[in-house]
Amino acid sequence: MDKKNTRQYIFVTGGVLSGVGKGITAASIGATLRARGVSVSIQKCDPYLNVDAGTLNPAEHGECYVTKDGAETDLDLGHYERFLDIELTRESATLSGRLLLELIEAERAGKFLGRTVQLVPHLTSIIQDAISKSGAGSEVHIVEIGGTVGDYEGLAYIEAIREFAAQVGRENCQFVHVVYVPYLSASKEFKTKPAQNAIRDLRSFGIAPDIIVARTETEPKSDIAGKISLFGGVPTEAVVVLPNADTIYRVPLTLEESGIAELIADRFGRAGKETDMRQWQELVTRATSTHTKRVHIGIVAKYLDNEDTYFSVVEALRSAAWKEGVQLMYTWVSAERIEEEGTEQLREFDGILIPGGFGSRGIEGKIAAATFALENQVPYLGICLGLQMAVIAAARRGGIPDATSSEVDPTTSSDVVFIMPEQKGLEATGGTMRLGNYPAELKRGSLAESLYGASTIIERHRHRYEVNRRFEDAIIKGGLSISGESPSGKLVEFIEGTNHQFFIATQAHPEFTSRPQRPHPLFVGFIEAAILQK
Ligand code: GLN
Repeated sequence: MDKKNTRQYIFVTGGVLSGVGKGITAASIGATLRARGVSVSIQKCDPYLNVDAGTLNPAEHGECYVTKDGAETDLDLGHYERFLDIELTRESATLSGRLLLELIEAERAGKFLGRTVQLVPHLTSIIQDAISKSGAGSEVHIVEIGGTVGDYEGLAYIEAIREFAAQVGRENCQFVHVVYVPYLSASKEFKTKPAQNAIRDLRSFGIAPDIIVARTETEPKSDIAGKISLFGGVPTEAVVVLPNADTIYRVPLTLEESGIAELIADRFGRAGKETDMRQWQELVTRATSTHTKRVHIGIVAKYLDNEDTYFSVVEALRSAAWKEGVQLMYTWVSAERIEEEGTEQLREFDGILIPGGFGSRGIEGKIAAATFALENQVPYLGICLGLQMAVIAAARRGGIPDATSSEVDPTTSSDVVFIMPEQKGLEATGGTMRLGNYPAELKRGSLAESLYGASTIIERHRHRYEVNRRFEDAIIKGGLSISGESPSGKLVEFIEGTNHQFFIATQAHPEFTSRPQRPHPLFVGFIEAAILQK
């Protein structure tokens, strides 16, 4: 069989611990294949029983990443999009809960005609269908399995991919197992035993790994690849050690330099192709250069204990700073601390950013921060909730002292941010969220239009509440103009400060489409304004 006419699959599983960079490894493997001119698609299979990743607590799971077609997914999809510079769809985010729901609904609808419905073969075959569907159209499809091998919840996925390899031909599949190798400071050695056990676990499910990625905190001095190779039964050249990198964008280069990328290509009959890694070299140079010129951004938020919660926002800020050749410093500012201590602490920043958020905790602190930026000529970028906070700040200045959002106070009559009447009563159903791509028309001559360099734009959304245009006069009086609307003219998409050098906010989430090589114009404009602020 001509290998190139068959889709090929790379399955990325994890052992020992989760959260050691399996997603970045999967995305980086994809990047090295793309550098060889191979078309790549990618998918994450999550073992959670949730039907929707949108309901997972971001402080625990990291950011909820939204695709253009409105799927609420986890932050690995963000890595995939940034590393592969593609836009994914819901087909790339597979959750056990959704598959089980599909299975049970099919059973309820009588589709099984009274046969016994089982995890194997029924759930596994749904998983296999989801993999085939997600991979359609590409030469190599990468599938990352969430969690670690052996987790109860993930067993159906492991069985499904084992069978899948038998169906499409083992030679068209590679299994990459990402294991963690801890360092014991007492004896000053890396311990490969958990990795050996994790490889054995994978074998016990009938899968012999082709590639082992050993994640370590630091560069090991001893030959841990040799040890893993010996005890894991995988050739040494198929074991790569990936210590924590100075920037995640170095990982594709490390895979290339170690020879693993070429080995993976070779096993798919794709060796010896011209490989263009220039964009990664340039990106790493930019990302690791130090500059004497600095900008200091204050990010006012609710969750401060998990950097992953706003991963894409931070990546967008970083990429904009790389483009501008300045050193980015950012500080998480607790919105609740502003409520207790006031806005004086914001004086040290060259720019203030309020990212997306839900719920009423810390809201007054965020409104105070937006007011501070508006009144003190501090560059401001508001994202989603950050727009709503700015609008409330302006309405209060413009004569509605008790202006608020009905998300905070459902009974208020000063609902400057509210639920559109046609959506009232559906708040708890999840059905009212505006998710995914929506267009906006930008006002001629506005800051938004000049930053985008276009008057019609599309951005991803994830919100429920809208600006209540009944209060438009007060909002304008308070110092803002409405600079972007939905095509119907009904919804407010962008606002900006009228007498302000850089005060802009959007109801959308521009951070999701920002790319390390192509930072989003709103973030670039924000960093430029912050530089001028110095
Ligand atoms: N909680 C607000 C809403 O639902 C903002 C959402 C967000 O910032 N993503 O409209």
